[in-house]
This record gives sequence, structure tokens and C-alpha cells, in this order.
Amino acid sequence: MAALQSVAAKSAASYDVVVVGAGFAGMYMLHKLHVQGMTARVFEQGSGVGGTWYWNRYPGARCDVESMQYSYSFSDELQQDWNWSERYAPQPEILAYANHVADRFNLRSDIQFDTGVERAEFDERANIWSVTTSDGKTVTAKFVVLATGCLSNARKPDIKGLDAFKGKVYHTGHWPHEPVDFCGQRVAVIGTGSSGIQAVPVIAEQARQLTVFQRTANFSIPARNAALTEEERKWFRQNYPEVRRFAREEARAGIYTEMPDRGALDDGDNERRSKYEARWQRGGLTFMSVYNNLGIDQTANDTDADFVREKIAEIVKDPETAKLLQPNNHPIGSKRICIDTEYFAAFNRPNVTLVDIKSNPIEEITSNAVRAGGKDYEVDAIVLATGFDAMTGSVAKIDIRGRNGQTLNQKWAEGPKTYLGLMSAGFPNLFVITGPGSPSVLSNMIVSIEQHVDWIADCVVYMRDRGLETMEANKDAEDKWVAHVNEVAYTTLYPQANSWYMGANVPGKPRIFMPYIGGVGPYRQICNEVAAKGYEGFTMAGTERARAAS
Ligand code: FAD
Ligand code: NAP
Repeated sequence: MAALQSVAAKSAASYDVVVVGAGFAGMYMLHKLHVQGMTARVFEQGSGVGGTWYWNRYPGARCDVESMQYSYSFSDELQQDWNWSERYAPQPEILAYANHVADRFNLRSDIQFDTGVERAEFDERANIWSVTTSDGKTVTAKFVVLATGCLSNARKPDIKGLDAFKGKVYHTGHWPHEPVDFCGQRVAVIGTGSSGIQAVPVIAEQARQLTVFQRTANFSIPARNAALTEEERKWFRQNYPEVRRFAREEARAGIYTEMPDRGALDDGDNERRSKYEARWQRGGLTFMSVYNNLGIDQTANDTDADFVREKIAEIVKDPETAKLLQPNNHPIGSKRICIDTEYFAAFNRPNVTLVDIKSNPIEEITSNAVRAGGKDYEVDAIVLATGFDAMTGSVAKIDIRGRNGQTLNQKWAEGPKTYLGLMSAGFPNLFVITGPGSPSVLSNMIVSIEQHVDWIADCVVYMRDRGLETMEANKDAEDKWVAHVNEVAYTTLYPQANSWYMGANVPGKPRIFMPYIGGVGPYRQICNEVAAKGYEGFTMAGTERARAAS
């Protein structure tokens, strides 16, 4: 390839790689590129690093994968040094960790903050990307890596009158940086996904009155969060080689945990119940891995869902409220399962009311109230916990033009099409981290991020070492992969839910199951095999003849 530009080329605003986004994906990508001596520029629309943890500052925000595992593994010194305070670190601590990583690995000088990437265009003659940013400038790069995040495009719902509301309106995914004090206020929370479920118990403690507007009840498992003891931290630190290996290679979801060896119907009622009870007491996401068929067998799934519904009925004192809170329109786990701290118990408080907007939808928001079912619920503040245009939303906001001027939005109009979730045919040298078609949001995302970054970095070095100009997914390989992703999804119960995995939360978005459900271990193996076979299914310029000959 025309030699990858040297460090000196920086002044000409030309880089080996432009990375979009400075969350965990963009930060690690930059570090890897530094290690490999590549020039890189990261553009981040926020004013700091951390991505998700920079934007989602709502009360109660914390991770749902345990912190000793929801953390980078690429540096043993880092994982030995960093002290997570709780089983699930709160947002400020995760953001502090991201900032620590940025400083520790000298990332900041190559990140341009407060700068959104608006357009990226591939010049087919020069084999170079032109990237235009919100400050009106254009830089060029051999490669573009989209580290734009799967849950980074907060979705404001289209509710009549919302803009005319006189009080404050907040979105969980775009929370202010200054503290928000709900003391003495009447607050509405709209939305009961993971964000709403984390925020409700905390806001309930402050607000004079909290009204929760629920369209769909969700399954939620207690987090059982607690301070981490020194022994617990020590155990992880000593066992990290095996914990991380297992999470990468053997786990489906990138989490170190026991693997189930039997299905739910292989146990009798009492045995099954006691296993569910034990997991409920333990808390956390691994509740779903007690049996190996909960995601594929409806009868098995029902036993698990019934258990959780019973728990809700035990916790919530008012039977009518309990019934409304019991999910009944999707298999447990087919939407991202929520992890909570005293969510259901919050509805026992005298200052918390649940409003069912499934049967009585929100009609409009007036200057001082949410109107639903003909009734005005007067509030001082509204919290929108209404989620994201997930997986494709942030990519779609960028005007990306590949070969023949085709835009990525045109290509993905009927749903995202990628090969391995990493590249899309017709868009050479453009990579996506944790893109649709990869395990991504179905996993401990740091495991998936590290895997993609390592793969992309290896690939770019492979090209540099061989003087290759371009790399592009082959259309037939992509078609086969898209079909495979779809086929695997439909062997499970997942597509039964109107979830954001399916694009179902955004009106008009194509209904495609976007992430790859084959598991992080098998997926990693596929990616490694593709690379070992000289990037099978991709075309690297200059190699076509050799490939054809072989
Ligand atoms: P992000 O962290 O989303 O970073 C992407 C960055 O790109 C953002 O900062 C954004 O501003 C920037 N960007 C986007 N478009 C542009 C553009 N055009 N120009 C410039 N910059 C741009 N996952 C887990 O595995 N475990 C968890 O416990 C967990 N908890 C979560 C809690 C919340 C509240 C949310 C919303 C998500 C959670 N996730 C969790 C998923 C989480 O998004 C990932 O774990 C991870 O943080 C994603 O990192 P990322 O770098 O890929 O994306
Ligand atoms: P979400 O799961 O998409 O939930 C959005 C909620 O808003 C749903 O209850 C939805 O109802 C409701 N809603 C959307 N539009 C509405 C409208 N117009 N009127 C009324 N209600 C509306 O979004 P999220 O809670 O932000 O979570 C997104 C993902 O981020 C999670 O699944 C998870 O992966 C991640 N996350 C993780 C954590 C954590 O625990 N670490 C915390 C937050 C987020 P319907 O279901 O009926 O559409």
C-alpha cells in the first residue's frame, strides 16, 4: 500500500486510522494503534472519554456485568492495580476508570473532543477516506474504525406536547453533568427497561411523588450489589488468566461462570425451584444460565419466567400493581434481562405509583402533566428512560459513502448487512467495533470490544506488512453471514420479543435480529479461522489473482 503515513503526516491532517468514538472501544483501539506505531486520530462528540459512562449519569446507573469482569483485560498491570469498590461499580467509578486508562496509556493527545464525525467518503482512486467533522474540517485516513457504540444514540420518544412541558425533561442516556436534585419534586419516569429500573428506586428516595409510566413490564433479577472484599478482589487477581480465558473462549456471553449441563425439564419441580432460588439469592445476570435450554425451549423458559413472576408477587404488596409488574408478553431473557436494586420493592412506597400505559397510552404531555387514559398526572420533572436507536443508530447519523457513492444508510435500508459484524461490502477499509452481526450487546461488551480491536489491529498490520491497499468484505461471504446470523437467531426464543435487538423500539426500523447469538467463544474461533486463512471472505487489493490461482 502507499506507505502508511508516518507520525510526521499528522500535521497534514492525514492519518493511518481515524477512529470515531472514545468509549471503551475507541480508547482500546487507539492504544493498540499506538503500540503498532500507527498514526491515529480519535474524534469524540462528548467532552471526555468513557462513552456510555460519560453520557449515562442518571441516578442508580451502574454496570450489570460484575466489575471484576466488566473491565479491560489487555493490561495485567491495570487489572492488578485497579480497585473496584463494589460488585457492580457505579457510573462515576466506571467513568473514573475510563479516565485513568486514558491517562495511564497516554491517549488524550490523539483524541479530539467535542467533535462529531458527520461524513466519511471513500475516494476510490486514491483508496483513502475523507472524514468531515462538526468543526467543518476534513482529514484523510487509510482506515476508518467506527467505535460509535451500540447504545449511544439516545431516543427521545415522539410524544405529543413533550416540547411544551414547562418543567425539566431529562433522558437517562444524555444526563446533565451537574447533580440533579429531585427532593420535594413530583417526578415522572417514562420507560421501564434497564435504565428506568435502575433509576426508579433511587429517584423514589428523593422525590415527593414518583409516577412510573410502564408500557411493557420487564423481567428483573436482584443485583445483590455489595462492597467487594479484599479477598474477592484477590481471588480475581490471582485467577485472572483463567477467568479471562474462559470468558473469551468458552463462555457464550463473555462472563466467567458455571456452564449449565442440563435443561430445565431434566430436573423435577422441587430441584428446579431450589436452583432458581439459589440463583435469585446470588443475584445478577447469570440467573439465566442455570439451565442450558432457557433461551430455546418455551416450556423450559416458562418455568423460569413463572418463578420470577411469583417473586414479583411476593415482593409487591398491592396485588394489582404486582400483576401489572409481571411480564407476560415475552419469554424471559428474550429482551435484555434487567438487574435491579429494590426495583419491585419501590412500588411498596407510599410516594410511588405505577401507571399502565399499555392499556391507557400517554395521550400527550401538557405544560405541567403527563396525560394518560384521560387523566392528568401533574409533575415537575420528566425522566425519559426510553432507550436508544440501538446498534445502527449512531452509525446511521454519519453520512458514510463507499464505492460508487453508495451510502451505508442506503445499503442498510432493510437492515444492517455485515460480514462478521466487522465490515460491510462496498465500504473498503471501514471497520465497525461490535457491529450488528457480532455477539456485541449479547455479551460482556468489554470482551467483545477487545476481541474486535485485536482482530482489526492484526488485520491492519497484516496489510501494512504486505503492502496491501484495501480490504473489503465479499458480497457472497456477507450474504452467507447475514443468513447465518438470522438462522441462528430463529433457533432461539429471542425474536419473539419486541426488543431493541430486533429494532422493534424504533418506529419504522426494519425488524432484523441484529446481534449474533452464536456465542463469543465460537464467534472468536470463526474470526480467528478467517484470519488464519488469509482473511477468507475478504478481498485485499493485490491478492485477488493469487487467491484465484490458489
Ligand atoms: P460507547 O461507550 O457508546 O462509546 C461510543 C462513543 O462514540 C460515545 O462517546 C459517542 O459520543 C461517540 N460517538 C458516536 N457517534 C459519534 C460521531 N459521529 N462522532 C464522534 N463521536 C461519536 N455492557 C456490558 O457489557 N455490561 C454492562 O454492565 C453494561 N452496562 C450498561 C449500562 C448502560 C446505562 C448502558 C447504556 C449500556 C451498558 N452496557 C453494558 C453497554 C455499553 O454500551 C458497553 O459496555 C460499552 O461501554 C460500549 O463501549 P463503546 O466504546 O463500544 O461505545
Ligand atoms: P430500553 O431497554 O429500550 O427500555 C426503554 C423503555 O422505554 C421500555 O420500557 C419502553 O417500552 C419504553 N418506551 C420507549 N418509548 C416509549 C414511548 N414512546 N412511550 C412509553 N414508553 C416508551 O432502554 P434502556 O432501559 O435505556 O436500556 C437499553 C440497554 O442499555 C439495556 O437493555 C442494556 O443493554 C443497557 N443498559 C444496561 C444497564 C445496566 O444494568 N448496566 C442499565 C441501563 C441500560 P417498550 O418495552 O414497550 O418499548
